[in-house]
Amino acid sequence: MEHPENDSQYIGLTVNEGVAQPPITNPYLVRRRRKPLPTVGEMVEGILRGDVTMLSRAVTLVESLAPDHQQLAQEVIEKCLPYSGNSRRIGITGVPGAGKSTSIDVFGLHVLRDGGRLAVLAIDPSSERTRGSILGDKTRMEKLSTHPGAFIRPSPSAGSLGGVARKTRETIVLCEAAGYNNIFVETVGVGQSETAVHSMVDFFLLIQLAGTGDELQGIKRGIMEMADGIVINKADGDNVDRARLAQAQFRSALRLFPPTASGWSPEVLTYSGYFELGIPEVWDMIDRYFDFVIGNGYFERRRREQARYWMYETIDEKLRSRFYNDPEIASMLTDREAAVLDNRQSSFIAARDVLEYYFRNRM
Ligand code: GDP
Repeated sequence: MEHPENDSQYIGLTVNEGVAQPPITNPYLVRRRRKPLPTVGEMVEGILRGDVTMLSRAVTLVESLAPDHQQLAQEVIEKCLPYSGNSRRIGITGVPGAGKSTSIDVFGLHVLRDGGRLAVLAIDPSSERTRGSILGDKTRMEKLSTHPGAFIRPSPSAGSLGGVARKTRETIVLCEAAGYNNIFVETVGVGQSETAVHSMVDFFLLIQLAGTGDELQGIKRGIMEMADGIVINKADGDNVDRARLAQAQFRSALRLFPPTASGWSPEVLTYSGYFELGIPEVWDMIDRYFDFVIGNGYFERRRREQARYWMYETIDEKLRSRFYNDPEIASMLTDREAAVLDNRQSSFIAARDVLEYYFRNRM
């Protein structure tokens, strides 16, 4: 095309023929290819060898939403199952700020003082963030995170509590097969997640703080009833007396509770995670608990109960997610919901119709 600027009258500017565009990406950049997935056999072999990289990859598969990953994960879990079970599973809960991370850091070092391995897992269904979420974040456990015997894994990313909890439960199997003989499962003490944690651990530790007013206010009775031990943190400096007072209050409150299924009487201790005071005493209590429940057979019984619980939990969760993730069902539900809200249809008829459609066409 003729450009007016190329006229000899026009000085100072010429338009040249176009040149080839340089590539917009850096030609020297070597694209890294994703490492191919190891086979089930390789993963199982790696895990049993205690290979942390392999363990992490398998846990990532457990957490993945992709159906083929889930399939692989299930095969790995199945093969690891015979090598699992040989650990102490300890649940740790407390409200945000109770000192869970600080405490897990020192409890962890205490547990690892004579060797062994410790996996710290978390259940935090409320977390909006995914990776490196509030719970399990390595930076919160400074000393443990550099310890060669510790494996710290953040909570599976947000989802239904049942789903998040099941993944953690499956991760426990993998960690145990990899030789982790101590498992901590951490959760925020607000909401339903304690029940989920309680159903996968042998000992449930509740971290409390000495408050200002009535100590027992606002503490959910259900959580206290699940606890095998209550520990009052931050018993240091001028807080010691208040912590002792809280201890006495908790002790008398526990006396009003019905006897526990294990026959163990939950104990109440004070300690300071930050100043590392009273840590051996807390652990001595936990040791005594394990001796007690292994001795009276409750340990085995509870684990079997838990296995049954997880079978039904898994069935419930799978049925529910299949159902609600079905696009046709989803649109049917939208219609029926509107009908129910407008009083055009009763909730029971609406539910029956949708379910019948599902059973007829999808089962
Ligand atoms: P989390 O939210 O339950 O994980 O609690 P953190 O471990 O993050 O602790 C919350 C705050 O309490 C931090 O500022 C800690 O330094 C502080 N803290 C934790 N343990 C103690 C303790 O034993 N004594 C005192 N005085 N402060 C503590």
